[in-house]
Amino acid sequence: MTPILPPATIGILGSGQLGRMLALAARQMGYRVHVLSPGRDTPAGQVADREITADYHNLDAIAQFAQQVDVVTYEFENVPSQTAVTAAQYAPLHPGPQALQVAQNRLREKQFFVKNGLPVAPFTAVYSLIDLLDGLEALGVPAVLKTATSGYDGKGQEIIRHPGDAEAAFAALNGEPAILESFISFEREVSMVGARGQNGQFAHYGLIANDHAKHILDVSLAPAPVPATLVAQAEQMVRTVLEALDVIGVLCVEFFVTAGATPDGRLLLNEIAPRPHNSGHLTIEACETSQFEQQLRAICGLPLGETRYRQPAAMANLLGDLWENGPPDWTAVLQPGIHLHLYGKLEARPGRKMGHITALSETAELARHKVLQAREKLTADLTD
Ligand code: AMP
Repeated sequence: MTPILPPATIGILGSGQLGRMLALAARQMGYRVHVLSPGRDTPAGQVADREITADYHNLDAIAQFAQQVDVVTYEFENVPSQTAVTAAQYAPLHPGPQALQVAQNRLREKQFFVKNGLPVAPFTAVYSLIDLLDGLEALGVPAVLKTATSGYDGKGQEIIRHPGDAEAAFAALNGEPAILESFISFEREVSMVGARGQNGQFAHYGLIANDHAKHILDVSLAPAPVPATLVAQAEQMVRTVLEALDVIGVLCVEFFVTAGATPDGRLLLNEIAPRPHNSGHLTIEACETSQFEQQLRAICGLPLGETRYRQPAAMANLLGDLWENGPPDWTAVLQPGIHLHLYGKLEARPGRKMGHITALSETAELARHKVLQAREKLTADLTD
């Protein structure tokens, strides 16, 4: 296939921070960028050549958008399937509809993993209260009940600690199909951002360690402090996922590391995101090629870039909670060695991802120390 070269136009469905960082990488390379979302003055729209405001279900607008770009990608996996099909009629859509279909539904996702021989926490499908009671009997408690669709950052998710809680948990589903999973007492959570090019070329950024707070990613560091055997296993698994879904682009796989049969522990797949991922933001400063440039290289049919780390790195998210008493005083993080990324969101809300900071150091642990110290200064300033 002939590569899509600058100044061709990249079309992005969705206009949040992932779209913004993708658009910035694209513009640096000389591409033009159109973004479409229902919002105005959005994080991605602010840095794009054109911001189109339309509902994702407005198929006329989607068709028009796709006709005006050379390739379409997306920054969130809940793109409605009709939207994806419509866009794909007018421009190449990467990653393709298969990846979207699997990533949009936790049940399909887990079934896909099992079909491909990939290890997951034991789970059952829940369509009725009887299914839930049977599932709890089979899996035991604690167990995690998640809606099959539209859950993220811990939304639509509940831990069931006693079988007696089943009825209330089922009622909270409001009739939505769900998945019940065994509760995994993991040692840590890790992710791997992988990429697949149009000629099948594969690249990845190693394992990144992730700490969550209130179900939202808080801090990531790379390389994750895990044995090399786990990295090799994860690489095989990520490759399997990318190939089975015929992905062209970047895709992130999230794993639990549990104590396992070997002293190195064991990986269980939790979920996939067929796009750049929050845990990969540190690749912007730490790696030869960021996850955003990699996404562009893949979808434009260019050779994938080197993923080598210049130095170990850590990233800390900046949530809207920091805005409790007005915008933070950024001087605390605008120090040498700390890289500030703000997403341009007009309204701060608790739990909303407003930005992040990244630091590099001789070890990932030192880098983590640097970002946490910098972030603490922001909070300290608040309470002064
Ligand atoms: P998810 O939306 O599936 O990524 O879940 C969000 C977070 O909830 C994960 O990153 C874990 O910290 C936690 N979690 C999800 N599923 C489980 C599970 N089966 N056992 C233990 N913790 C879980």
